Amino acid sequence: MNTQAHVLPTYGRAPISAARGEGSYLYDTEGRRYVDFCAGIATCSLGHCHPVLVEALCKQAHELMHCSNLYAIPQQEELAALIVEKIVGIPGRVFFCNSGAEANDGIIKVARRFGHRRPAADGSPRYEVITFNKSFHGRTLGSMAATGQAKIQVEFDPLLVGFKYVDFNDAEALRAAISKETCGIMLEAIQGEGGVNPATPEFMQTVAELCREHDLLFMVDEVQCGFGRCGAPMGWQAVCPTVQPDLISCAKGIGGGFPMGCFWVSNRAMDEAGTELSSIMGPGSHGSTFGGTPLACSAGLAVVKEILAADLPARAAALGEKVKAEVESWNLPVVECVRGHGLLRGVGLRAGSFTVPEGTTPAGYVNSLCMQAGLLACPAGPDTLRLIPALTVPEEVLAEGLNILKNVLSQLG
Ligand SMILES: *Cc1c(COP(=O)(O)O)cnc(C)c1O
Repeated sequence: MNTQAHVLPTYGRAPISAARGEGSYLYDTEGRRYVDFCAGIATCSLGHCHPVLVEALCKQAHELMHCSNLYAIPQQEELAALIVEKIVGIPGRVFFCNSGAEANDGIIKVARRFGHRRPAADGSPRYEVITFNKSFHGRTLGSMAATGQAKIQVEFDPLLVGFKYVDFNDAEALRAAISKETCGIMLEAIQGEGGVNPATPEFMQTVAELCREHDLLFMVDEVQCGFGRCGAPMGWQAVCPTVQPDLISCAKGIGGGFPMGCFWVSNRAMDEAGTELSSIMGPGSHGSTFGGTPLACSAGLAVVKEILAADLPARAAALGEKVKAEVESWNLPVVECVRGHGLLRGVGLRAGSFTVPEGTTPAGYVNSLCMQAGLLACPAGPDTLRLIPALTVPEEVLAEGLNILKNVLSQLG
């Protein structure tokens, strides 16, 4: 059954009804098994129904699910400490929310408040955040305005003001875009939805330098790249570990499938008096009824502890290299390149090398062929097939999925 009479038709859904999951396999309601290289769009970092996560959720559900942020929540403190010390590795503080879009709205609010505390020379608050073409930051009014893709903004104007988009990895365009209103630069270390486009290390370095030079906040959207996905605890560390962001948004992989997001704010001094950046978000400045419930944080704790204990970032790095080498070794005419870091990989499909049915894109078409053959992947932009398996994907299941992909791609063109 896949009728959609009462659900708003905002998604172009595949003809599969998901029923249950087990590690890197997803089963539909007809009992068909799929190798899952989508993992809930890079969210099920431990695979489906990992016993550590299931047990943590069940245990916490019996103790306390929700109590509001009117009270201290010990699980928040423990998870925030892990994120600051073991994942980000720079002194700072964490706010918990429920999704990636919310996390991005949160860091945009921090940037705006920073723009008031550190105004332009004429005393007017700075408010503009520079983001990049083909970026994706979410669907709320704030995060949609931050997203540099016109197609997601159609008929939702007027948009939230204060964003400017420039080409990714174009240092000169970025430099030229900075104005007296600018208070931050926001980017994904690897653009996920936009086509698996990694920032170059030089570009990351330039962003960091421009931020220092112009007193801007260096804002990194780690919603897709973070928590081991790219072969390091955070995606920016896989691209250019020497830079230090000021604000980081997270979601997807942190909860392993349980809805959860967060943002991190650096403790760095933001003025001559040594005011910590994280101190500008005091009581009353932000909030979320559901943010950081005991249940969500117990899920986050289970996931993050497992990521650290099993060194899943290193595993993602090693397996990601294998994926790249394997796909390249096929030497197929339809494959232009393999981009990305760790287990965030994009197979770039060569334009015009095969016939695409009307009404779909090359990536959408290949994705549907993979699905019919028993492999779930995910398009990223029109020409890129994204491979984002669980960080725990067993090597034999990885090989099984790649074999399906090879068969599908071999029959094209
Ligand atoms: C998915 C994604 C978002 C939006 O997250 P939601 O949880 O869907 O709101 C934001 N930024 C990036 C980089 C993403 O991949």
